[in-house]
Amino acid sequence: MMKRLPVLLILFVVVACSTMPRTDEGSITFIHLNDTYRIDAVEDDKRGGFSRVVTLVRELQGEGRDVRILHGGDFLYPSLESQVWDGMQMVDAMNFLDAVAPLYATSGNHEFDPRGPESLVTALRGSRFDWVGDNFRFDTGDPEADAILKSGFTFTAGGRTVGIFSLTLHENDGGNARPYLEIDPDYMAVAERAIRSFEERGVDLIIGVTHVHMWQDIELAGLKERHPKLAFIVGGHEHEPQHSPGSEAAAVVMKGASNARTVWQIDVGFDAAGNYTVNEKRIEVDEAIPFDPEYEKLVAKWQALLVEKFPFLEARVGTAALRMDAREQEIRTSESSWGNFIVDQMRTAFGQPHAELAFINSGTLRIDDFIEDDILFEDIGRTFGFSSHLRHTTVTGAEFRDILEAGYRGEPYAQGYFPQVSGFRVCVDHSRPEFDRIVSLQVPATGGWAEIDDDREYTLVVPDFLYNGGDGYSIPHDRFASRPASELKYLVLDAILRAQARGRAVGKPITPDNRRIHILADPNERCWGQ
Ligand SMILES: [Zn+2]
Repeated sequence: MMKRLPVLLILFVVVACSTMPRTDEGSITFIHLNDTYRIDAVEDDKRGGFSRVVTLVRELQGEGRDVRILHGGDFLYPSLESQVWDGMQMVDAMNFLDAVAPLYATSGNHEFDPRGPESLVTALRGSRFDWVGDNFRFDTGDPEADAILKSGFTFTAGGRTVGIFSLTLHENDGGNARPYLEIDPDYMAVAERAIRSFEERGVDLIIGVTHVHMWQDIELAGLKERHPKLAFIVGGHEHEPQHSPGSEAAAVVMKGASNARTVWQIDVGFDAAGNYTVNEKRIEVDEAIPFDPEYEKLVAKWQALLVEKFPFLEARVGTAALRMDAREQEIRTSESSWGNFIVDQMRTAFGQPHAELAFINSGTLRIDDFIEDDILFEDIGRTFGFSSHLRHTTVTGAEFRDILEAGYRGEPYAQGYFPQVSGFRVCVDHSRPEFDRIVSLQVPATGGWAEIDDDREYTLVVPDFLYNGGDGYSIPHDRFASRPASELKYLVLDAILRAQARGRAVGKPITPDNRRIHILADPNERCWGQ
């Protein structure tokens, strides 16, 4: 896996017509994407990738459309490459997009992963695309870099002026709090203030480019009732496609799938009186769309640099016993063999006796691909896009049940907080109210399984991120806990190498008998099929 197709195979070029078609007066076509962590495609090169987006944009331009690209944030981190170049490979790729069609990007929480401002300053200074933001501003110590972020941003296309308001997540909603960053948590007030100023400036159209939760975007979309020029909101943070239809009183809301696996095409037209129409189309970015040969040169350049940095990148470290689905749409909604293998290692991280319970937010596992056949060092590098140190502590059975409820809150679509688990099994009914959805939580007992004992203390290993309240989990801090130790990436690498030395393949199939997570398809179904 992860091998690149030879560039020659994919040299289907969309040839522009020799007579340039006339640009349709005043109409604008937007391509929206969000949460892109790779300069190349994913799923063994079969889905997503900027290269295919470039082809798409060039095709639309060939039809005479004025195309603008919108990015809903999360691109600098996390990834294998970002651990080396602090996101500059993404800046390079986004500059390429911007040269094909102007790109306007908001910032996601991951743009602010580093504690210091240095890499953000480098990214800002290296960007030729526009950074937009209305509820946040930078204070990096470099005023010129700070000024690159534009609020109240407008652009003109085909004689029409468009205003973009842009928002990012405050720490109260899972954003990063950083000393070089100020974020206003009152999204609604900021958006309305920006919209009013656009109205005063007489813009023809207003759109939102955001990185907040879907339900917050839907709330913001209601501003159309008072501000009819608000045409649509596109966003990021969720990694699977989202759509909330528009009406007289609500703007349409859209988000694509991470790594440009799904993007949105939004055609905006105007009549003579200046009334606009919005037509949105969801585009699955797959093998039907060829790579762009020019863009592929950029991919090849960074790939060569990466191999220079990690000569052992393509070294085989182990063997997969089965094809393990670690794509985000799977790993963020259900148990995964790759997730199970990783969380099993967590329980061993602090020596004997092994911890009884462990879990991890699936958002930590970034590979968005299958693990099969040879496991390469690259697979480990891509699974762990950032460092993850582990903590050892204790909780009672009752506390643990409460902690874990957070993993099943909200809608049952792909969520980065969805847990991969070890040392217990859990049965969940999404038709029940939030924080009361765990029907059964069982631990091994003589002769099989038994419900977790509410009063007993259990040993637990979790990433430091979750111990500190990340992703909405609240783990008690009033008893002994280890310092953050044992880096998960190396723990997993070590386990794979040890299995390899013993001639063993890694990973076990999930069967109805051994499954750890049972999401009830219907409330009358029995847990564990009993
Ligand atoms: Zn995000």
